Amino acid sequence: MSDPVLNINPERLSSLIKIGLRLTAERDLDRLLGTIIEETTSIMDADRSSLFLIDAEHGEMWAKIAQGVGVIEIRFPVGVGIAGTVGRTGTIINIPDAYADRRFNPEFDRKTGYRTKSILCAPLRNTQGEVIGAIQVLNKRTGAFGSEDESLLAALSSHAAVAIENADLYRRLSAMNLSLERKVEERTAELSAANERLSALNGELKEMSITDALTKVYNRRHFTERLRHEIKRVDRYGPTVSLLMIDIDLFKKVNDTWGHQAGDAVLSGVAGLIKSRLRETDLIARYGGEEFCLLATGTDRAGAQVLAERVRTLVQNAVFEHGGQAIAVTVSIGVSTWEPSLRDDQEELVRRADAALYRAKEQGRNRVCV
Ligand code: GH3
Ligand code: MG
Ligand code: MG
Repeated sequence: MSDPVLNINPERLSSLIKIGLRLTAERDLDRLLGTIIEETTSIMDADRSSLFLIDAEHGEMWAKIAQGVGVIEIRFPVGVGIAGTVGRTGTIINIPDAYADRRFNPEFDRKTGYRTKSILCAPLRNTQGEVIGAIQVLNKRTGAFGSEDESLLAALSSHAAVAIENADLYRRLSAMNLSLERKVEERTAELSAANERLSALNGELKEMSITDALTKVYNRRHFTERLRHEIKRVDRYGPTVSLLMIDIDLFKKVNDTWGHQAGDAVLSGVAGLIKSRLRETDLIARYGGEEFCLLATGTDRAGAQVLAERVRTLVQNAVFEHGGQAIAVTVSIGVSTWEPSLRDDQEELVRRADAALYRAKEQGRNRVCV
């Protein structure tokens, strides 16, 4: 059998090629179906065309057809009517007089108020060769459809089927892409929220690792680290740094008199009080039980002595409250100041402050020794 396309006249063939190109370019399925119907009606010299698609899931064929100015969707089982028959058999049907053919279903005419005479209906096949629908042209303007019309509609339907398949594929891909993008977005948001929580938690953890739980001032380990750093810095760039060793006087008596919890409250109170009056460059840490260390950056011996005296009076004048009891305490303070001969010997600086503190205790407490 010769290629049926060869019996189409050259002018219609060239239109067919143009239509094919136009259809391939259309990716929107709805617009594509509209274009197919329009082009088919015109090239087939028909009065109107319809395009039916098979809904395999429901065993139905459906189409959107023009009715007056609106568009209605019709559905019917595969096998019913001319289009339904083509949908089932996959064979082209050409009928000069619809009402003389048993397969014709006059229901559509009744619904649309149309009067069908000649019908030409060709199957739409996908690339796997499966029938996915049918394209139907009605009432050729110059009598009935001939064999050239059959070849032309067959060629047109294969173009249309490929274009429909592409548009459908494109639609599904776009939908998949969109849902993928959404998922990626969701995941990214989840991840960044988790990261934020994690970094907040990390911050808290870091804060906890350098803070004394009871008094909320720095702990000894952090103090030691900062002291080492500071001593190194001062050794290179100067000018100096001072250390205040602050010990609460007769603290054992506080515990013995008011109880351990009252002692805790006083400890926190003293720490908070000193911390609240510090310069930003100064640092206070809990060094031991009732002993605090104050690192005064850039403060020389004289300055440290003034600072120590201020801390001493501050505590002396304060009253700490616990369980309705007003508790007063004093502190003794030993001061040491970095000097060039010390280089970066931080232990020596601490030893000197300790020794000064010991002297302050010996000399009767509530005093500052340098
Ligand atoms: P001094 O003036 O010589 O320093 O006398 P002191 O009583 O303060 O010194 P001592 O070293 O004899 O006693 C320190 C007391 O501090 C003993 C200990 O039970 C108490 N202490 C240490 N850590 C804590 C704490 O976290 N909470 C409470 N409530 N007491 C503490
Ligand atoms: Mg003490
Ligand atoms: Mg002590």
